[in-house]
Amino acid sequence: MSNGSMLDETHDSTLRSWVERANDGVTDFPIQNLPFGVFCTAAEKTPRIGIAIGDQILDCAAAVRGGVFDALPSTQRAAVCDALCATSLNALMALGREGARAVRHAASRILRNTGDEASRAQQWRAQILVPMSDATMLLPAQIGDYTDFYASVHHATNIGVMLRPDQPLMPNYKWIPIGYHGRASSVVLSGTAVRRPAGQLRPDPAVDPIVAPTRSLDYELELGAFVCGENGMGQPVPLDRAESRLFGICLLNDWSARDVQGWEYQPLGPFLAKSFATSVSPWVVTLDALAPYRCESYVRPEGDPAPLPYLSNAHDAAQGAIDIRLEVWLQSAAMRASGIPAVQLCGADFRTMYWTFAQMLTHHASNGCNLRPGDLLGSGTVSGPGPTERGSMMELTLRGKTPVTLPSGETRAFLMDGDVVEFRGWCGRDGAVRIGFGPCRGEVIAAE
Ligand code: CA
Repeated sequence: MSNGSMLDETHDSTLRSWVERANDGVTDFPIQNLPFGVFCTAAEKTPRIGIAIGDQILDCAAAVRGGVFDALPSTQRAAVCDALCATSLNALMALGREGARAVRHAASRILRNTGDEASRAQQWRAQILVPMSDATMLLPAQIGDYTDFYASVHHATNIGVMLRPDQPLMPNYKWIPIGYHGRASSVVLSGTAVRRPAGQLRPDPAVDPIVAPTRSLDYELELGAFVCGENGMGQPVPLDRAESRLFGICLLNDWSARDVQGWEYQPLGPFLAKSFATSVSPWVVTLDALAPYRCESYVRPEGDPAPLPYLSNAHDAAQGAIDIRLEVWLQSAAMRASGIPAVQLCGADFRTMYWTFAQMLTHHASNGCNLRPGDLLGSGTVSGPGPTERGSMMELTLRGKTPVTLPSGETRAFLMDGDVVEFRGWCGRDGAVRIGFGPCRGEVIAAE
């Protein structure tokens, strides 16, 4: 099946913007992307909604004030303009996919290098564009709830082999999108330093546990999906409506303390090993922007069960996955001091996930759990089958047994203080313009 039905004029690969840097072929933010974020400036501290375009941000509230969004459809104009003047994306997310799509179409017309709307917008250039270099990015939404899944069968297998060699995958894995309820209060924006947590560890099972800073701090390469719209308690979300509840996607680092996790996780799963920090990238790339990169979902090998009917339909099988390339880069303090650039530790493909975001959302709501605008769903660590496709250090170093050597000569079994971990993500294919997510970065700082 082609993804033609999901494409429209905003995906036209010949579109160019009057914002010059949007057309340079290397930016993450050409006019075909138009992701949403929240920012402030030194001159104006109030958070406001922006749309990334090249090296600039379209200030949505300023654009509304200037009448630049007046061409929004009259049925949506008032609600969308109100939402665009808010201090977070929650109000726009409450309007569902349609609200974001209306803004995307308007922004595409405003920012392209032809047409009356673009000509009018250019007269307001000084008022409506903010250079990214002048902006401080903020969390894009107030995150009411955060749930983390475990949707990569390669990651689950890599981890399972180390913990349970005889039975790497639990019997439920191929039936249920496995997840746990995470901690929303400690979701932080890319760039926020991450303090090494202390916790209860039991390095030697023969003696009592100790309390100490974690000795096995790790990253997990994930995507985060922001929920839009709302289902009331008791109202499941059928799979054919699940994508209407997905606003957009960011990069997500589920920082993890493996020694704390190993001691605490049975029988109820992750707790303090995960709740100390989760980083997200500032720009939310909408599902609509990702339409050219939709692809067949993971083809289950012979012998795997088919998904149960509530987790299966033709659209999800044919186009439920998204072809996103993800990378992990690391730079130690010593590398920084000697001018050695970050080194790539991993490259993995999101399309290899066993479960799609739509299946995760539908399963999440299948018991009637209400999902609300701004809720965040983590995909789980994205790993592929190969040795260069391991989305966590635990997999990369086999729980620290095979440390990696950095260009500085240092070795890493797990993260050290001063390490900067950076995730990158992008989509590209013939006939479509490359779009990216912008980095998700965090520096590890010493324990309190
Ligand atoms: Ca995780």
